[in-house]
Amino acid sequence: MSVVDEFLQANEKYAAHFQKGDLPLPPGRKVAVLACMDARLDPARVLGLEEGDAHVIRNAGGRAADALRSLVISEQLLGTNTIVIIHHTDCGMLTFTNADIHSKVKSELGADADHIAFLPFSDLEQSVRDDTAFLRSSPLIPQSITIRGFIYDVKTGKLQEVN
Ligand code: ZN
Repeated sequence: MSVVDEFLQANEKYAAHFQKGDLPLPPGRKVAVLACMDARLDPARVLGLEEGDAHVIRNAGGRAADALRSLVISEQLLGTNTIVIIHHTDCGMLTFTNADIHSKVKSELGADADHIAFLPFSDLEQSVRDDTAFLRSSPLIPQSITIRGFIYDVKTGKLQEVN
């Protein structure tokens, strides 16, 4: 069975017991979580989120510059007032440089991705500080928005705040 067929089978079970069809559109806990797409990090389980609680925005690294569009929509149109940034140990973003992936794309695909900043980083705590600072200094994110940054440890399941 293909992974997609497995998904459809799982979804049938999920929908058979589904009772949350009347949730409002704005997130009930007024929070947007920005997290790395890493498969070992499940924001809903890590944070105790249920359907309807939060926006969860994910990308490679959980980088803020890549999530700004979604965060502005979340705050301006859907009433969130808190942003939680989650990067994590053993992140793939620690393993390459922009030059690495630019040249890989060229050799594998014969295409030019030099105009894309892939936003890798070499210091995990600094990447969280950089993304917190990026959002705090953005004119698109009001000062009234609470922004907190964390590192998730993939070995222990624990979050640690980065100040
Ligand atoms: Zn990652």
